[in-house]
Amino acid sequence: MQKTLDLTEYTVIAPTAPIAVARHGWRAKCLQRLVRLALPVPVTVALPFDTVRAMASGALPNAARIIAEFGPGPLVSVRPSPENPEWGGPSTVLNVGMNDALHARLSDSHGAEAADALYLHFVQAFAIHVARLDPDRFSDPLGPGALEAALEAYADETDEPFPQDPAQQLSEVMRSMARSWEGPTARLLRQAKGAPAEASLGLIVQGMALGVGPGLSGSGTIQFVEGVTGQPQVTGRFRGQHQGRAPHPGADRPARETLYLTTDPRGPALQDAAPGLFADLVAMGAICRKRLREEMQIEFAIEDSQLRVIDAVRVPRSSRAAVRIAVALADDAVITREDALLRIEPRALSELLHFQVDPRVPRDRVARGIAASPGAATGRIVFTATAAQASAARGEPCILVRRETAPEDIRGMHAAVAVLTERGGMTSHAAVIARGLGLPCIVGASEIRLSSRDRTLTGPDGRVLREGDEITIDGTSGDVLAGAPAMLEPALDDGFRTLLRWADAVRDIGIRANADTPDDARTARMFEAEGIGLCRTEHMFFDEDRLTVMREMIFADTAGDRRSALDRLLPMQRADFIALFDIMAGLPVCIRLFDPPLHEFLPHDREGLRELAEALARPLSEVSRRVEALTEFNPMLGMRGVRLGITMPEIYEMQARAIFEATIAARRRGAMIVPEIMIPLVSARREVELVKTRIDAVAAAVRNETGGTFDYRLGVMVETPRAALRAGEIAQHSAFLSFGTNDLTQMTYGLSRDDAGRFMGSYVQQGVYAEDPFHTLDNDGVGELLLIGARRGRETRPDLTLSICGEHGGNPESIAFCRAAGFDYVSCSPFRVPVARLAAAHFALVDRKTPQDAPMAPPSTR
Ligand code: PEP
Ligand code: MG
Repeated sequence: MQKTLDLTEYTVIAPTAPIAVARHGWRAKCLQRLVRLALPVPVTVALPFDTVRAMASGALPNAARIIAEFGPGPLVSVRPSPENPEWGGPSTVLNVGMNDALHARLSDSHGAEAADALYLHFVQAFAIHVARLDPDRFSDPLGPGALEAALEAYADETDEPFPQDPAQQLSEVMRSMARSWEGPTARLLRQAKGAPAEASLGLIVQGMALGVGPGLSGSGTIQFVEGVTGQPQVTGRFRGQHQGRAPHPGADRPARETLYLTTDPRGPALQDAAPGLFADLVAMGAICRKRLREEMQIEFAIEDSQLRVIDAVRVPRSSRAAVRIAVALADDAVITREDALLRIEPRALSELLHFQVDPRVPRDRVARGIAASPGAATGRIVFTATAAQASAARGEPCILVRRETAPEDIRGMHAAVAVLTERGGMTSHAAVIARGLGLPCIVGASEIRLSSRDRTLTGPDGRVLREGDEITIDGTSGDVLAGAPAMLEPALDDGFRTLLRWADAVRDIGIRANADTPDDARTARMFEAEGIGLCRTEHMFFDEDRLTVMREMIFADTAGDRRSALDRLLPMQRADFIALFDIMAGLPVCIRLFDPPLHEFLPHDREGLRELAEALARPLSEVSRRVEALTEFNPMLGMRGVRLGITMPEIYEMQARAIFEATIAARRRGAMIVPEIMIPLVSARREVELVKTRIDAVAAAVRNETGGTFDYRLGVMVETPRAALRAGEIAQHSAFLSFGTNDLTQMTYGLSRDDAGRFMGSYVQQGVYAEDPFHTLDNDGVGELLLIGARRGRETRPDLTLSICGEHGGNPESIAFCRAAGFDYVSCSPFRVPVARLAAAHFALVDRKTPQDAPMAPPSTR
C-alpha cells in the first residue's frame, strides 16, 4: 500500500521558517533570503530531501494540502532544489493546476490567447516530463487548435483524458521529478560535477506570476555583471507575454515582444517602456549584491505591470569572471579578501591561462566547427574514451574525437587535452562538460566525417587523418588545425594578479618554479614565482652547437681532453646562468648539476653515428663501439646524477665555475645573488662530501682569480629512498634538501617512470593504486619517506631548507602535505604556479582557527 506523507513534511517559506540548505537545498534557502530582503516573491513552499526521497520510492505527497496554501484556483510551478546549484536537477514545470475550468475562467479575464498559452505549455510539459510521451507530438507552437490537438494527443497516447484535478497534477509532477533525480543519467551527470553518490533533491512549489495577459506582462532575467568577463554591465532579456526562462516550444524566432533591458538603438527597451519597474530591478540587484554578498541573476515576472521575483541564482560565470567578481566584491568591502580567495577553486585558475594559436603563423585548417570552449591545445587523435585514458597514462597529450559525447565519455574527456565532436551545439554534453573542465572544445564540426571502423577523420577536402595523427583544436575560433602551430601564452588581467597577491599575503609556504631556460624563467616571473626551485641544466646542452662540444667531451680519452671540451662549454654555460640571474633579478635560483646518463647525448641511428664520426674525425667503428660501451641495461639506475660527478668531476667543476662567474657578473650589476647548487641522485653522505670539497675549491679559485666575493648554498636532491633514510648525515653537508619526487616515486615503488604508463590504467582501474603515483603524491609510502627525511634532516640542522621539486609540487594535495610537514617551499612548472599560490592560501585560511589570529589588511578602496 502506498504511504501518504505526513502533513508537516513541507514548509512555507517565510523569514523565520526553519529552512536549511542541508535539508531543503540551495534554492529554498536562496528564496528565503529573497523573502527576508522583502523582495516581492510569490508564496513558496519547500519540500525537504526526506520527503522527496520518499516520493521517489512511491510515497504520495499530500498535494491537496500543499495546493491549499496558495488559495483558490491558483497555478503553481515546481522547481528542483538540490544542495548545490551545480548539480542540476529535473526541468521546472510551470502552470500546474491548469485545467478546463480554469482555462474557461482565464479566457474571460486574460483573453483566449493567454489562457490557451498557459494551458498548452502545461499540457506539453506534463506530457513530456511527467507522462514521458514522445516530445515530437508535443512541440507545436501556440496557434489555432494547438491546445485541442495537444489534449487529444495526450488522451490518445495514454488512453486517459488529461488530468483535471490540480492536486493530482501536482502530486504526479512532484513524484516524476523525484524519480528522475534518482535515474542513472541524472546520477552520472551530477557525479561528474562532483556531487556525492547520495546527493539529495528538495523541491520548490511556488505560486505563478502569469507573465501573459493584459497590460505589461512577461518574464525575464537580469544581472549586473557580464558572465564571461565579469565586467559591470546590465545583461539579460525580457520577453513580453512569456513565462519562464526557456523559449516556448516552436518559438525558434525571437518573440515579437522581446525587449532589451537598457535603452538600445537596436530596439525597444524595458528601461524606456517601464522606467519605474526597471529602476526597481536595479535596486533589487544592488540589495542582493550587498546582502547576499554575491552577484545574482534575478529571474522576474511582470503580471499586468506588477513585478514579481521568481528566483535568483549566482550569475553563471567563467573562471575569469569569477575572479573579477570576487575581487570587486572584496574591493567594495561586501566580502573580505579571505572570502574572495576561498570563493575561487584553485584549479579553476588554470582556465585563465589558456594558450592561443599564434595569429601570425599560417593555419593549416582541416575543418571548422562551433567554438565551444576557449583555448587551444595540440595532441594526437584518439577516437574513444579508453584510448584517451591510455594515452594520458603514457603521458601523451591527446584529442578526443567523437561523433558526440555521452556521460560515459567523461573520464576520457578528463584525460584529453581537447575535445572535438562532429555533432552538437553550444549546450551539447561535450560543450558543457568541456567548459566545466576548462578544455578547449569544438562541437558541431559537421563537415568532418568519422569512421569508427577505420579510425579515421576525413576533412571536407578529402584529407584523411588517422588515430595518432597530431592536430590542434582552437576552441576560441572553432578551427581544427593539422599539426602543432606555435602558441601564444595567455594574458593575465588585473583581477587575477590582485587575487594572487592577496593569496601571497596569507599563504605560509613558498612557491617557486621549475625553469630551465630564459623563456621558462620569464614565465615564472610573469606568474610571480618566488624563485627557481629547479633548473635542470642538461636541458641547456641540446642546442646543435653545444651538442657537438658535449659529444667531444663525452668522447674524450683523458681528463685533460675532457677539460678542454668543457672549457669551450664554460662560456656558454656561464651565459645561461647570467641570463637566468638577470631575469630572476635577485630571487633565489637553485641549479641542479648535470643529471642524465651521458649516452642520452649520443646518436643511436646509423645516420647520426656517421655524422658524429665525421664531426669528431674518428672512424665510424670506434664511434659505434664507444656509444655501445656507454649504453647501459638500466640507465635510470646507472651512471647518472652524482655518480657522474664522482667519476668525471670535471663536469661539475665546469658547471660550478660557470655559476660562480655568473654570480660575480650579476653582483657587479647589482643583483645580490646567492646561488643554490643542488646535487642530484645522492644516496650516500660521502658523495656529498666529495662533490662539496671540489665545489668549495672552485669557489675559492674563482674568488682568488676575480677578487670578487660571493656566497653560495650547496644542497642535495633527495631522490633515492636511501637519501631520505640517511638525511640526518647528508644534512651535515647540505644547506637544503629538495625532494625529487619523480625519481623518489620511481625508486620507492620500483616503477619505471617511462614504462609504467603501459599498465598504470589497469592498476588504477582495479584499485591497486588509488591514483597514478606519478601524478598524485603517494602520501603513505613516498610521503613517509618525505617525513622521515625532513625530520632526520632537521634534527641535524634545524635551519635546513626543505622543499619538493618533482611534478607533484604543483598539486594542491601535495602542497597540503608539504605544508603540514613544515616544508619551506614547493617548486612546480611555471604554469602551475598560480594554482599553487591560491591553493597554498586556501590551506592557510582553512587552518586559521579564528580570523583574529592573523588579520588581513582591510580591503582597499577603489
Ligand atoms: C625528480 O626526480 O623528481 C626531479 C625533479 O628530477 P627529474 O624529473 O629531472 O628526474
Ligand atoms: Mg630526478
